[in-house]
Amino acid sequence: MSSLISLTQAQPVADWRSAMGDLVTQAKDLCAALALTPEALGWSDEAMQAFPLRVPRAFVARMRVGDAKDPLLLQVLAGAQEMQTSDGFSADPTGETGTANPHPGILHKYSGRVLLIVTGSCAIHCRYCFRRHFPYADNQNSRSEWPAALAYIANDSSISEVILSGGDPLVAGDSQLAELVSLIGAIGHVRRLRVHTRLPIVIPSRVTQGLLEALRHPRLQSVMVVHSNHANEIDDEVAEAFSRLRTAGITLFNQSVLLKGVNDSADALVALSERLFAAGALPYYLHQLDRVQGAAHFEVSAEHSRALQREIAARLPGYLVPQLVQDVAGAPSKMPLTH
Ligand SMILES: *Cc1c(COP(=O)(O)O)cnc(C)c1O
Ligand code: SF4
Repeated sequence: MSSLISLTQAQPVADWRSAMGDLVTQAKDLCAALALTPEALGWSDEAMQAFPLRVPRAFVARMRVGDAKDPLLLQVLAGAQEMQTSDGFSADPTGETGTANPHPGILHKYSGRVLLIVTGSCAIHCRYCFRRHFPYADNQNSRSEWPAALAYIANDSSISEVILSGGDPLVAGDSQLAELVSLIGAIGHVRRLRVHTRLPIVIPSRVTQGLLEALRHPRLQSVMVVHSNHANEIDDEVAEAFSRLRTAGITLFNQSVLLKGVNDSADALVALSERLFAAGALPYYLHQLDRVQGAAHFEVSAEHSRALQREIAARLPGYLVPQLVQDVAGAPSKMPLTH
């Protein structure tokens, strides 16, 4: 089938659902897919028990065969370093429990916008994830909890933007999302709907006609922030998914996490920005790693991060330079990484 046909026809839901279920969860299956020996790959069963290995084959397909240092592979492989404890790394580095979590399923840290946790599930497990220890069981926000979460938003007229997050909110089905969007749209003071998701990167077939219709609302402006860390993640199928989102009137941004061994070079960051723009998305944030337990081996020093930022700023037009930020517990916004 040509890509032209897949662009103009709604894809059957079974496509993305089956891609979601077509998973690699065993390290030995990664070895087989990438033609690597167990010695070359190296992993920790203990780390995999703490946070399971989970990566769709659609994403594995973009890893380089035979390369144990592949930047996509390193994002999902559970290594022994994860079991080391490191000073300053905690289970809740961004202060998401307590006052920022006023209601199950709601995170309200910043003025004017709230984050609504649609589901705790993700299509992929990223080893650096700052929510890997988040108490999702208390924040399931199943359909039955929506009315109370939406009442919280309706009762605070300072909230003009609702951010669907997770987990990955696009793990939810189109009809569930359509219902949620219409409930949010019924709150008069909400003007913008934002979706933070990695699914258009991991499984681009998730961007179905049904999804675009679910996110459409006559009154709300729509923004999507996708999450990609490396240019190799963005193949032609991802670019086609971006194009469908943009054609539907959705403003598209990307956020990345600066990760040692994955994208901690000016070349990698420049290539990512260039590739994103070619595919139709603007770089938004480049996050300094949140200091979550088990992710210390990904940390890039603040000094090196700033040096990388200066180098990419010298090589790219200003609109392709993401803001280098840090999530500081208790701060009124994401904080620029300053000296
Ligand atoms: C990061 C975040 C946001 C979004 O911040 P922006 O600067 O608007 O992108 C909103 N709420 C919470 C709880 C966040 O962690
Ligand atoms: S929340 Fe985002 S970063 Fe964390 S595991 Fe899910 S997709 Fe990955």
